[in-house]
Amino acid sequence: MYDAVVIGAGPAGITAALYLVRSGLRTALVESSAPGGQILSTAEIENYPGFPKSVKGWELADLFEAHLAPYPVDRLRGEVSAVEPTSGEGGPFRIILAEGAPVEAKAVVACTGARHRKLGAPGEDTYAGMGVSYCAVCDGNFYRGRRVAVVGGGNSALEEALYLSRIVDRVSLIHRRSAFRGSMVYQEKVRAAENIDIVTDTVIDEIRGSKAGMDSLAVRNIVTGELGTIAAEGLFVYVGMDPVSAYLPAAVEKDSAGFINTDAEMRTSLPGIFAAGDIRSKHCRQVSTAVGDGATAAMSVLAYVEQTNA
Ligand code: NAP
Repeated sequence: MYDAVVIGAGPAGITAALYLVRSGLRTALVESSAPGGQILSTAEIENYPGFPKSVKGWELADLFEAHLAPYPVDRLRGEVSAVEPTSGEGGPFRIILAEGAPVEAKAVVACTGARHRKLGAPGEDTYAGMGVSYCAVCDGNFYRGRRVAVVGGGNSALEEALYLSRIVDRVSLIHRRSAFRGSMVYQEKVRAAENIDIVTDTVIDEIRGSKAGMDSLAVRNIVTGELGTIAAEGLFVYVGMDPVSAYLPAAVEKDSAGFINTDAEMRTSLPGIFAAGDIRSKHCRQVSTAVGDGATAAMSVLAYVEQTNA
């Protein structure tokens, strides 16, 4: 029986595990892939304090991992398929892994974050892996010297359009409104980039191509109704995130999009289950806020475990 099992090894999960083990709790960390989470597919992180010249996503992930490595945290590999209360009231919990024996814990910290959402345009599945991508850092290099498009208006779309502009010939940045949602600092950089064409008030009606891969986008201006075609051999989709929260018990309250509702101490509606990072219903999703959530959740778990032991 663990005191706490942390699910997910991104910035929130690694921080929670670090604070839990340093508090003397018997802790396990379940990780489905390499530690780091979303930062592994982020080229440069410019706004995490302590790195004034920015830090590459994989470098920060390595540093987080190096910080946790000396501590006695059990590292469990694989996906969690379910977390089940062992009593009607809640904890302890049984954590069911897709492979291997289940483990039990007095408390669970859900840090599984969110995954990139699909655009939902015709052709998206046909050309997935043949032009359509959700990771510029992973796939951008295939398009060196070629033309690509990015869809979305948040920080991810702006940042990744900038990243791609340094590799490819031209980037069309397509957004459905006239105003971007992403930070002003990225908006200014995108506007200043000579090889980024900003296409606003525009939606993608279809992704087109041939057996060789995608080659263009059928687009529509939603203000004028004008139809057009944008030449692009790659489309990078950054239209928001969906939470990875389906494995949690139904008694854990979620918002309408499936993100977990917590209080300021990272407690969910089910005592003994805590949530931290991008999986939470909140406005500000940053590495810095994920780290803060992870630390807060760990301190709440400590109080909860001490109370249940008393
Ligand atoms: P986001 O902020 O939710 O932005 C999603 C964008 O996609 C919005 O501009 C939205 O348009 C657009 N969109 C949604 N559905 C669409 C559809 N079906 N068709 C066309 N466009 C669609 O998502 P994100 O950029 O992935 O960022 C997620 C979170 O991580 C945010 O909190 C973000 O601030 C954070 N983040 C931070 C950084 C950083 O600070 N360095 C980097 C990356 C991400 P509307 O604007 O019209 O709604």
